Amino acid sequence: MSEAFDAAALANVATRALRAYDPGHDLPALRQRFGAALVELGSNENPLGPSPRALDAIRAAMADVWRYPDPHGSTLKAAIAARHGVDAAQIALGNGSHELLMVIAQCFADAKTSVVFSEFGFAVFPIATAAAGARAIRMPALARDHASMPFGHDLPAMAAAITADTRIVYLANPNNPTGTWFDGVALDAFLAQVPPTTLVVVDEAYAEYVTAPTWRSALHLLADHPNLIVTRTFSKAYALAGLRVGYAMSSRSVIGVIERLRESFNVNALALAAAQAALGDDAQVAATREWNAAEREWLAARLRERGLRVLPSQTNFLLVDFARDAAPIEAALFARGVIVRPMAGYGLPECLRISVGSRAESLRLLDGLP
Ligand SMILES: *Cc1c(COP(=O)(O)O)cnc(C)c1O
Repeated sequence: MSEAFDAAALANVATRALRAYDPGHDLPALRQRFGAALVELGSNENPLGPSPRALDAIRAAMADVWRYPDPHGSTLKAAIAARHGVDAAQIALGNGSHELLMVIAQCFADAKTSVVFSEFGFAVFPIATAAAGARAIRMPALARDHASMPFGHDLPAMAAAITADTRIVYLANPNNPTGTWFDGVALDAFLAQVPPTTLVVVDEAYAEYVTAPTWRSALHLLADHPNLIVTRTFSKAYALAGLRVGYAMSSRSVIGVIERLRESFNVNALALAAAQAALGDDAQVAATREWNAAEREWLAARLRERGLRVLPSQTNFLLVDFARDAAPIEAALFARGVIVRPMAGYGLPECLRISVGSRAESLRLLDGLP
């Protein structure tokens, strides 16, 4: 009886099309095996760690963990609102921005609608689309040999792909796994072409890492485009990935819809406290940005010296194009306790995504390359 039982056949149509998340490696087991010698460059974590103020805030918040957290996250929202010049009613908090990207699709997309995103765009975009049962319109990325932004989003083509039933366009700026970005002029031109019946989500998970002067956050466009949603996270430059906090900023109208569906206590008390404290430590974020930019350039230069093609990046990782199947290279690194991210699942089997680690970790990586 139990052998023949297949719950997948009972799942709704959208869920039947999904696969469980594959983390690639069993990291807890690997940490046991390699101990401190394990070099983890597969998840774009910030090796500098979070602000000491965030850690203090966590300790202080511990006394109250028997209580439910504030379901509105009011003090964190007030801090975010002050930081970005928006109203608290224009902010939704998420258990990571991943949750918000999913909830947005759950709220606005369904089987009668379509969702536009780019080839090599963030992995959550097609998953959110499929989970909502919507039709995916996956636009080809810029060419591998594009002069300035290989593998980047082709914004004019994406705008042209929008149809009357397109409810969401997902953009990532900068994008993961490519590290590519687009400038403020391109974003303005894109938004000007999008009808008000289509929401534009600009995922800015790596915003705090950007140093390119032509890059511009989409935030300044919120006032003129009620259909725009900008998402940010505390997982990357703020180094709080383990706590799961992200946020979305949009019009009051859009946030009001998101608030209907999100789980009431989706951000826990320690995460709320830590995120608020981290947001207040500008010096820590600035130091992270500068350190990362310098290490990123150093690592990219060492890789290029070896004749490897390193794509331009404004993030805390590099996409490296080995111009041959990268699986044996990943395996060789893995054998030496260096974890990087294979890209075959993204349709880039010749590439590996490598996070910017500490200098010692980068040296281990370079040493382990065949
Ligand atoms: C890491 C990442 C996120 C966010 O992750 P959360 O930890 O869920 O906040 C969102 N978008 C992109 C492009 C990312 O790389």
